[in-house]
Amino acid sequence: MAGGGPDLSPPSISAVVPIHNEEGNIPELHRRLDAAMRALGRTYEIVYIDDGSSDKSLPLLLDLRAAQPDQIVVLELYRNYGQFRALVGGFERVRGEIVVTLDADLQNPPEEIPKLVRLLEEGGYDVVNGWRRNRQDSAFRRIASRAANRIAAALTGVRMRDYGCMLRAYRRDVIRQIVACHEQSPYIPTLANALARRATEIEVAHAPRHSGRSNYSLWKLIHLQYDMVTSFSVLPLRWLSVLGAAIAVLSLLAGAGMVVASLYGVGAGLGLVPALVIVLFLLLGVIFLTLGFVGEYVGRIYNEVRQRPRFVVRTVHSGRKPLAGPREDVEEERPRRIVDLRDDV
Ligand code: UDP
Ligand code: MG
Repeated sequence: MAGGGPDLSPPSISAVVPIHNEEGNIPELHRRLDAAMRALGRTYEIVYIDDGSSDKSLPLLLDLRAAQPDQIVVLELYRNYGQFRALVGGFERVRGEIVVTLDADLQNPPEEIPKLVRLLEEGGYDVVNGWRRNRQDSAFRRIASRAANRIAAALTGVRMRDYGCMLRAYRRDVIRQIVACHEQSPYIPTLANALARRATEIEVAHAPRHSGRSNYSLWKLIHLQYDMVTSFSVLPLRWLSVLGAAIAVLSLLAGAGMVVASLYGVGAGLGLVPALVIVLFLLLGVIFLTLGFVGEYVGRIYNEVRQRPRFVVRTVHSGRKPLAGPREDVEEERPRRIVDLRDDV
């Protein structure tokens, strides 16, 4: 910011990192991320989103920003909204032509960024996904991810081996479209691939968490999978109704069969009670499953209809005034519903 005020020309590349209680990772993350961005030899910015941390993450980020005000933007959310909503908050403010996302816990090595950027540019892709071949997570997480990847590929029709890796590079157009989607529970990996004209994946290294614990409990992981499936498609509803219809037809046939058999006196001595109980329980299970799914969608419709802000920004710690970039264009198309509590923009 030499003399003439803040530099308003947009940087070439933006990195976006969501942060929830990562105090043990931030110094090392920034050191390595900043070095990787610098090594690209272009103008860059790093957007850190503090997603309602209760540890020292925010003060640490603000210290980093104080030291590099031209490169670092810290977005301070009002409370914890979850990784993907936090990312959308960052996406609203990125200014680079190319946007890279990664996790803060150093599971995604920042040194891999140039590889992704190169493939994006040279291959003419809109999204390049990282694929963690040697994943450093628990066996349970790896197995669960394998199932989730299959479902995601079936739902989106885009075949990727790893939908869960957040080490990715996107063109700004895709980021703009994600922001314009206004979904309450954006599931960015599938959304990005479905919006892109051309998406691909490339093998990237993966490391164990540098410090601290995963933010995802089993319950949060289940919630995430529901986000993925329901935010993308109504297919489960269709599968369930087809299943329901098939079961109904089968039980009608079975009933008719029993009537015919009893007319001929076949099976009169067999106790039918156990069979009936099993059928009853099976039906009950199906009904509950169906109701659960229907309820899930109804709940989501309710959420969308309420139009609550997806997240609330407390402060944008940025030297730029005004913030230029994709958000402005998107705003013209659609009025924003996000409440801003910013005071030092
Ligand atoms: N994260 C976030 N908000 C949350 C949960 C996670 O911003 O509510 C961030 C977290 O700080 C990290 C990334 O999302 O940068 C991935 O989280 P984590 O490493 O805990 O997930 P895992 O690797 O276990 O899937
Ligand atoms: Mg992690």
